[in-house]
Amino acid sequence: MSANRWRRFSDWDDRPLRLDRFAAEDPTNGFAAFSSPADPKPGFKIENGRVVELDGVGEADFDMIDIFIAQYHIDQAVAPEAMAIPSGEVARMLVDMNVPRDELVRIGHGLTPAKLAEVVAGLNAMEIAFAYSKMRARRTPGNQGHVTNAKDDPLQLAADAAIAVALGFDEIETTMRVSRNAWANAVACAVGASVGRAGTLFQCASEEAEELKIGMAGFTSYAETVSVYGTERAFVDGDDTPWSKSFLASAYASRGIKMRCTSGAGSELLMGFHETKSMLYLEARCLCLQRAMGVQGTQNGGIDGAPVTASVPGGVREMMAENLIAVWLDLECASGNDARSTESEIRVGAKILPYLIGGSDLICSGFGSILKYDNSFNPSLLNGEELEDYLVLQRDFEADGGLTPINEDQALDVRRRAVDAIAAVLDELDLGHATEAMKSSVVAASGSDETESYRPGDVARISEAIQTRSVTVVDVIKALHVRGFETEADNLLWLVKLRISGDYLQTSAMVRDRKILSAINDPNDYCGPGTGYRISAERRREIVTIRDVLDHETVLAQEEEFARKQAPGLMLAGVGEASVGEHPGEVVIGVSPAFGVKLFRTMSGIPVGELLTAIVGGIESAGGVARIVRLRHTADTSFLGLSAARLSGSRVGIGLQTKGTAVIHHADRLPHNNLELFSNAPITTVQHYRDMGRNAAQYARGELPEPVVVPNHGEAMGSRYHARVALIYAIETELTADGAAPEEITMSVSGVPV
Ligand code: CA
Repeated sequence: MSANRWRRFSDWDDRPLRLDRFAAEDPTNGFAAFSSPADPKPGFKIENGRVVELDGVGEADFDMIDIFIAQYHIDQAVAPEAMAIPSGEVARMLVDMNVPRDELVRIGHGLTPAKLAEVVAGLNAMEIAFAYSKMRARRTPGNQGHVTNAKDDPLQLAADAAIAVALGFDEIETTMRVSRNAWANAVACAVGASVGRAGTLFQCASEEAEELKIGMAGFTSYAETVSVYGTERAFVDGDDTPWSKSFLASAYASRGIKMRCTSGAGSELLMGFHETKSMLYLEARCLCLQRAMGVQGTQNGGIDGAPVTASVPGGVREMMAENLIAVWLDLECASGNDARSTESEIRVGAKILPYLIGGSDLICSGFGSILKYDNSFNPSLLNGEELEDYLVLQRDFEADGGLTPINEDQALDVRRRAVDAIAAVLDELDLGHATEAMKSSVVAASGSDETESYRPGDVARISEAIQTRSVTVVDVIKALHVRGFETEADNLLWLVKLRISGDYLQTSAMVRDRKILSAINDPNDYCGPGTGYRISAERRREIVTIRDVLDHETVLAQEEEFARKQAPGLMLAGVGEASVGEHPGEVVIGVSPAFGVKLFRTMSGIPVGELLTAIVGGIESAGGVARIVRLRHTADTSFLGLSAARLSGSRVGIGLQTKGTAVIHHADRLPHNNLELFSNAPITTVQHYRDMGRNAAQYARGELPEPVVVPNHGEAMGSRYHARVALIYAIETELTADGAAPEEITMSVSGVPV
């Protein structure tokens, strides 16, 4: 390491952030988030009922995207009025709670891509987040999860799908490592998602034609893999046009399969066809195109291009901005947050926050409900590893991120049920046989590295059999029913029947409690504080019930349990009121009211007997004499110390709270001006307390010893301990009584007097 370097840079080099690579802004090469010199100025001309100019391009020079947008997106009745409003004014309308969403949606139908981009570019990140929250179509937020694994193991897919349902995901989607496993994945997830409740929509992302066939066989209920692009060359390269994409979208919808397109910043850049335009402008074209196609929704916000978008200045703000255009155009929005765009957990948390607190039709599209290495879409912004962090963020902000905490028993139950169900279906349909060893390994496994289950080769045979024998969802429902999984059969049948009514094809439709919630019957009616989505008392209870929450009773019970295990343990016997001592070498240890009564260990886990033994030993090692008193008029460390000192023959005393906070005091000093303070109880060791006793005896002799130093390595004491500290202190103070006299204590440990 060079001496000519501030080593803080080396510290920074070791952080995950340095794995992220950042790109210079370079519009000529497509690296521009919000604006490029090549972006057209907003413009528009109608002649004889035809759009003859769009964003500076004359009709004769329209490419196929311009033609499609001019014909099917631009509402000619609105456009002249809408295009005439200055962009700054439209931007202010977006963040004005008094301008209703409907009015902005109406205006949006008359705006060109360049105008839409110019308006949202005028908003800062906070304004975009606010406008997004106001403009999204459905009031109640939802979430989507990925359910995949590295082995395409159907048992694990079923178990993980059931977990995703239990966590509250409104939609789950799978994809495969090996494309011919698609049918097995579809059956496994459909069965797993029927455990626990009905109505979780399911997608199997596959090659477009095959995905449609799987949908027609009834296994899936939505699709969002129809990609659109912002440049003509990107379409041509994929052997597609806006018309062919529209046809495909209609094919899904005609079979009752919910349909949204996919687009996102950076895709044209990755494909090499960016036309030197900014990411936002190209994405505005994509979104106008999707509205023009007549699809209800979009999966949008970077998506596969999120990592490259996040590498340019303003890239994360751009992803928020394109989501805003999507909802402004009245499209249902599955708002990205699906690709891991950074290795920095801070950047992950910051990226998700606006969506969590503002809500979205589907906050992630999707959240990796499985571990990163099992995520066959590539790691999501958040994955199984971080899922509990997300649950805590919901609780912190009292924000509904669409998920609900689960407990360990519930998790095991749904996994077992799902694994049994899919194994029964495979067996009943003569597709495969799973042993109990396979099943139980999957039930307990966090990820596919831990399973003794199907390998990809076995799965391929199952998948091909499903396909060649034309197994449909009806066969699966019958198999579930025959094998005793009536509830799951009923849940799956209910979802299939839902296709006939087609209600869930509406914009922003999802299923809650077997009812459709959509922009039709649950419209976002935000118009200021007290309106729009508000978390109900019942929903709040669900969100706040995370794991390992401490309360008064829990702490008391844990302490009793600890004391029982210390048997025969410590005996502290009161022997009457304490008086002022006379021995000049005496150090009085003043313990707190609950010490050894209701509380039995320090924050670092030292049993109170061992703690007192160490301090007494330290005092005696320096030739001092120890005496223990219990103070009952206070639980405050300083006053414990001062009161002990006033009882001491040497006028030096130690104040000691059960949690281990301790002070050496002198009777002549002011309450908070002690000799030594040990405030970091969680990292204070037995040796430190012994040294403290020794120092106290030295002060008693009039010496000035080296203070004992408890080294601190930056532990987040507050977050780790303060909840317990506050609860413990409350237990101490409950036992205080004004004016109560100090009590002389004798101590024996395991029957031996100390
Ligand atoms: Ca998705």
